Amino acid sequence: MVAIDGPAGAGKSTVARQVASALGYTLVDTGSLYRACALVAERAGVAMDDRAGVEAVVAAAVVAGTLRLEAGSAGLTRVVVHGEDPAEALRTPAMSMGASAVAAFPGVREALLDAQRAFGSSGGVVLEGRDIGTVVFPRAELKVFLTASAEERARRRCGELRAKGIDADYAVTLAEVLQRDHQDASREIAPLREALDAVRVDSSAMRPSAVVAAIVALARARGAV
Ligand code: C5P
Repeated sequence: MVAIDGPAGAGKSTVARQVASALGYTLVDTGSLYRACALVAERAGVAMDDRAGVEAVVAAAVVAGTLRLEAGSAGLTRVVVHGEDPAEALRTPAMSMGASAVAAFPGVREALLDAQRAFGSSGGVVLEGRDIGTVVFPRAELKVFLTASAEERARRRCGELRAKGIDADYAVTLAEVLQRDHQDASREIAPLREALDAVRVDSSAMRPSAVVAAIVALARARGAV
């Protein structure tokens, strides 16, 4: 089991996907679960700062199976909301901020634990998120804390958004990156922090392919074939 945690924009998604593909493992992008919670709240007309309201609609959606994680094609997993894969709707800046807000609510984190553990428990899996190595799978064989400077992360995020045709301003994106870092690191439950036994990889000056090669080598050294 490979856990890849780190702050927003450190390159986790790209790297985790390629590591999973190189190892022939299943990828679980846990951030999309939190984004889906924000989407469920928005669709239910519940404000993102209404803790009790968000916890109630998310718990109900998980129990009813209207928010769930499914095996997708080619070793990927996908989040399904009301029978649809809301992939694009989850990637907007509003859903990034909404996800970070609702991820601070204990009832939301609790509701998502089983889904994450169900996918990871049989091994052969790469999970990427914020608290995989610290909370979800503290016994993961390999824990990577992938990071990069805030400026580099904002620059990358802007590039990704612009490539999708979303108008992105660098200063606004940097402010959002810093705000999300602060929210994710300062929450009481499962804050973003490096596990004591994690390997720290700073990707600021590394190409994604070099980061992938380093993580694959670490995984192989720990028994992955
Ligand atoms: O990784 P991504 O940017 O999609 O995550 C969106 C938000 O979901 C993060 O800012 C964080 O607040 C939350 N998250 C979390 N725990 C995880 C994954 C994501 O709290 N394991």
